[in-house]
Amino acid sequence: MKGKGRRNSPPSSPPGSSSPNTWIEGRVISHLGQGLAVESPDGNIILCQTRRRLGDVAVGDRIRWQPSEDGEQGRVEEVLPRSTTLVRPAYGGKTRVVAANLDRIFIVISPAPEPDWLLVDQYLAVCEFRHIAAEIICNKIDLAESEALLFAANALSSKPPLLAGEGWGEGGQQVDSRAFRLATELADYARIGYPTHSVSARNGIGVAELKQALHGHCSMLAGQSGVGKSSLTNALLPEKNLRVGEISERSGLGRHTTTAATLYPLPEGGDLIDSPGVAVFGLAEIKGQDLAWGYREFQPLIAQCRFNDCRHIGDKGCAVREAVEKGEVAESRYQRYLKLLEKLAMPDTVWE
Ligand code: GDP
Ligand code: ZN
Repeated sequence: MKGKGRRNSPPSSPPGSSSPNTWIEGRVISHLGQGLAVESPDGNIILCQTRRRLGDVAVGDRIRWQPSEDGEQGRVEEVLPRSTTLVRPAYGGKTRVVAANLDRIFIVISPAPEPDWLLVDQYLAVCEFRHIAAEIICNKIDLAESEALLFAANALSSKPPLLAGEGWGEGGQQVDSRAFRLATELADYARIGYPTHSVSARNGIGVAELKQALHGHCSMLAGQSGVGKSSLTNALLPEKNLRVGEISERSGLGRHTTTAATLYPLPEGGDLIDSPGVAVFGLAEIKGQDLAWGYREFQPLIAQCRFNDCRHIGDKGCAVREAVEKGEVAESRYQRYLKLLEKLAMPDTVWE
C-alpha cells in the first residue's frame, strides 16, 4: 500500500476545507461494512462515507471525494454522471442501483445445469432497456467436447440451424437433443447480434479469447447458479483474493464481505464487477407494452405493425408475427416473449 489518509489530501488545502475543484476523483469499488471502498487514480484505496443527500452510490460509480477532518477517511461529495445503471427491486416498490457505468454483461450458461432460456431472454431484455451490451458465454464445454466444438462452430456461423434429427459433422455424428437445442439457441442469438463464447473455466479453453472480449470494458457476469460464474471469475482474476484482503486492510475499518459486489481491474485491461450475492436483476421496471423492445430482433418490426398499441400476440397486421411465420424471427424467442409477457402481467411475480 502506498499510504492511506493524509497522503491522499490535496497538497494545497488542509483536510476538510477543500473546495470542489480540489476534490479528488475516484471510483467506488465495493461496499464495506462501514462505508465505501474508493479507489483514487493513483491506485490508493480509501474508506469513504457518503452524504445522505447523494442517494444510492453504487459499485462502479465515479465520484469526487475529499479527505475527512482526520485525514484517515474520505467523504464522497459528488457522484459523477453515470453512463448506465443496473437496478434491482427493493422494498416498497423502490429500486436500488446494483452497479453503475457497466457497459457489458456476459450471460453465462452451461450444458449442465441446462440453460433457463427465459432467464437469458430476461437478462437480454434488461440489457436492451439499459443500453448495456450483452454477450453470451457457454461454459463447461469440456463436458462434451466434440459436441461443444459443434456448438461453437454452429453458433458462430450465420447459417440457419440444422433441423432436429439431421446428422451433424462430417462423420454424420448425431448430437443428442439437448446439445442440439443448445447449439440452435446459441446460433439464433449469434444471428441477432449477440456474440457467443464457448469456454471452459475448468481446462481453460476459450479463456484467452474471453479476456480479449472483456478488454476495455466494465463487465459483469450474470446467470443462474451452478453454471460456473465464480469459476470463471477465478480464471479471469487470479489475484482476486489478494485484492479482497487488500481492500479490508488498506481501508482499515472496513470489513469486506465476500458477497459484496466488488469491482476488480482485469490484468489484461478492463474491469470486472463480481457480484456473487446479487447477480440477480429483474424486469421489475419493464412494462408489458414495452417488453417487445427488449427483444432486439423485434425492434425494427415494431413500427411496421398496423396498430400502434400492437402487443404482438395475435393482433391483425402484426409485423413481428409475420416475421415469425416467415422464419425470420426465431419461433423459440417469440414463444418466450409471450411467456414473459404473461409473467409481467401477474402482479405478484417475485422478480429475481
Ligand atoms: P456459479 O454458481 O455460477 O458461481 O458456479 P460455480 O463456479 O460455483 O460452479 C458450479 C460447479 O460447476 C462447480 O462444481 C464447478 O467446479 C463446476 N464448473 C465450473 N466451471 C466448469 C467447467 O468449465 N467445466 C466443468 N466440467 N465444470 C465446471
Ligand atoms: Zn405487432
